[in-house]
Order: sequence, then C-alpha cells, then structure tokens
Amino acid sequence: MASAQKPSTGPFNLRRLDALRFAQAGETLAGELPLTDLSRLGEDLHGPIDPRARVNWSARGEWRAGPAGAAPQAWLHLQARGEVPLTCQRCLAAVSTELTVDRWFRFVADEATAEAQDDDCEEDLLALEPRPDLQAVIEDEMIMELPLVPMHGTCPDTPAALRSPGDLAAQEAQEAQEAPERPHPFAALRKLKDRP
Ligand SMILES: [Zn+2]
Repeated sequence: MASAQKPSTGPFNLRRLDALRFAQAGETLAGELPLTDLSRLGEDLHGPIDPRARVNWSARGEWRAGPAGAAPQAWLHLQARGEVPLTCQRCLAAVSTELTVDRWFRFVADEATAEAQDDDCEEDLLALEPRPDLQAVIEDEMIMELPLVPMHGTCPDTPAALRSPGDLAAQEAQEAQEAPERPHPFAALRKLKDRP
C-alpha cells in the first residue's frame, strides 16, 4: 500500500520544485548553471558571455514549526554565487563582478496568499503552487544583486577618446584651474600710476 511506504525524497526538479516534500524531507539540491542560460540577467551583462561561465547554487529545504501552534511551514535557504562581466561606468570596459545570493524563503499555499502577506513579513515568500521554478528564482535574485553603478577599483588605461564624458569634464575643470591667471586689465594701469 502506498500509504505505508516511506515517502520518496527525490529526485527533485529544479524547474518545478515540489517544495512541500523538499522541505519536509530536509533535502538539499546543488549545481551549476551556465551563465548563458540566464538570458534575463544576460541583458545587463557586458557581452559576449563566456560559455564556460557558471553560477554555483544550492538550495536546502527546512520544515519549521509554525508560530504559536500554527501548522509547520516549508522554508528554503537559497545560496548562489557567480562572477559576471558588467560594463564599467567610468571606462566602459568589462569589469568582472561577483554576485552572491543568500536568502531564506517561506512557502505559502499560492500566489494570492503570497501577495496578501508580502507586506506583513520580513522574509520573502514563494507559492507552493504552481510549483516554483528555482532557476528563475536564482536568476531574479542575481539580478537584484547587480550593483547600480558597476566600476573598476582602478580602471585599466584607456585612450582619452574612450573616457566617459564625466571624466572629460573633470579633466577640463582641472586644466582650467591649473591655467595661469590672465593679468587683470587694470594691473597695467596701476603699474603706470605707481611709476614715480
Ligand atoms: Zn573602468
């Protein structure tokens, strides 16, 4: 009889996770995703993307007691890490940037419940149904970690023609400051007056 059998714990599908069973079993999934598979993230990257580039990720399920006698809840700890090429906002060359994700999610019955409770709790919520696509969640979280203004600590040398307008303006301002002061028009006059 099926009910007498020990519940099966796997394999779990990353793209359509049975999060309830995953959490109840305290399972862990881990793997690598080619960066080229994350096309939404790819739109923000400095292309072309190295086909060997990978995002390492892991997901661990946890079945936790609910607050104050409430039913136990399914939780998921998601971690991901990857080096991505971004466009330096100073020199416009590629700047390799590490993105790390470390987040907890609590599962609720469906998307309507997630939306209704989202403002009232600190943790991130995911719906059990339809089954979540963890690859899409990983990609969403990586996108959230993108820096607003990616920049080299020290830009590699670049020809002046490739410098950003901000740098050119700064350079012009500095040159203007360094330029010798033009003689005051009355200076010559004063000189005449001072003559004995
Ligand atoms: Zn730079």
